[in-house]
Amino acid sequence: MKVIDHIKQAKTALFSIEILPPLKGKSIQSIFDGIDPLMEFKPSFVDVTYHREEYLYKKREGGYLEKVSIRKRPGTVGICAAIINKYHVDAIPHIICGGFSKEETENALIDLHFLGIDNVLALRGDSIKSEHEFIPEPNGHEYAINLVKQVSQMNKGRYIEDDLADVAPTNFCVGVAGYPEKHFEAPNMISDIKYLKAKIDAGAEYIVTQMFFDNKKYFEFVNTCREMGITVPIIPGLKILTTKKQATILPKIFKIDIPQPFLEEIEKCKTDAAVKAVGIEWCINQSKELLKHKTPCLHFYTMGSSETTRKVAAEVF
Ligand code: FAD
Repeated sequence: MKVIDHIKQAKTALFSIEILPPLKGKSIQSIFDGIDPLMEFKPSFVDVTYHREEYLYKKREGGYLEKVSIRKRPGTVGICAAIINKYHVDAIPHIICGGFSKEETENALIDLHFLGIDNVLALRGDSIKSEHEFIPEPNGHEYAINLVKQVSQMNKGRYIEDDLADVAPTNFCVGVAGYPEKHFEAPNMISDIKYLKAKIDAGAEYIVTQMFFDNKKYFEFVNTCREMGITVPIIPGLKILTTKKQATILPKIFKIDIPQPFLEEIEKCKTDAAVKAVGIEWCINQSKELLKHKTPCLHFYTMGSSETTRKVAAEVF
C-alpha cells in the first residue's frame, strides 16, 4: 500500500522506521533481529537506505596503489523484498541520483515495480568522499527533482525509449527529503523550501524530514512550508541519541543542532548507559509533543538500535 494511503486511512499517528542494509558479508538475519522487536508496534512501513560506492586505495605488490570501488552496504532492493515477504509490511527503498545513469534508474524502478513495490523515497545522495561536491553520473540526475520527474513519467507509462509499445505504467508513491534546519548547501531556508516545493509539484506526495532534536524547528519548518504552498504530509524523522560522541558526530554528519538544554544533560552523564537513558527520555518528550500537534506519523531512524526505538515506542504508542 502507498504511504500516502496509509496516512489518509489512519485514525491515529502512524509508527514507521528506517533501517540500514547490513555491512557486506553480514546475513539478512541481522536485519530481522532489528525489526522483530519493533513489530508489536505495527510499523506501517519500513524504509531501507541506499549506500553508494566509495573509492579506496589498496596497497598492492610492489607498493603501487590500486583505486578500488566498494559498496559497504549493498542490498537495498533484496532487503525490501525480504521484509515484504517475511512481515507483510510495506518496505520503501531509497533511490538516489548519485552513481546512477537515467537508464540504470529506469531499470531499478522496473525491478521494483515487478516486485510489487509501490513506494520509493527519491533522494539526490551526498558527494562521495573523494569529491568536494556532488557530481552526477554522465547522463544521470543532478537533483532529486529530476528523479521525481523520471518516476512521475514512468507512472504515466513514459519510459526513456519513447517508441515502446503497450507499456505498463508504474504506480509509485514518491516521498522526498526535507530539512527543518535547512539543507547544508542551500543559501537560505526559503530557497531550500522553494526547491522542496518544486519536488512536490513534480509529483512527490509526502516529505520525510532530516532528524532534529528541537521540535520548534520542525514546527517552524512546517509553518513555512504551508505558507509557501506545500500541502502534503510532512513526516518528522527522529533519532535517539545514545552516546556522548554522537553529540558531536551527528551535527557534523547531518548538519543539525543539539539544543543546549539537551547537551547539558548529556554532558552531566558519566557513562554511555546514562546518555542512552537521557536520549530515550528526550525522544519520548519530543514524540509526545509531536503527537499532540497531530503529526501524521513518527518515523524513527533506528540505525541498528531497535532496543532504544522500542523503549520510545512503548511509551508513546
Ligand atoms: P535535493 O532535493 O536535490 O537538494 C539538494 C540541494 O540542492 C539542496 O540544498 C537544495 O536546496 C538544492 N536544490 C534542489 N534543487 C535544486 C535546483 N533545481 N537548482 C539548484 N539547487 C537545487 N542519502 C543516501 O545516500 N542514501 C539514503 O538512503 C538517504 N536517505 C535519506 C533519507 C532522508 C529522510 C533524508 C532527509 C536524507 C537522506 N539521505 C540519503 C541524504 C541525502 O541524500 C542528502 O541530504 C543529500 O545531500 C540531499 O538530498 P536531497 O534529496 O534532499 O537533494
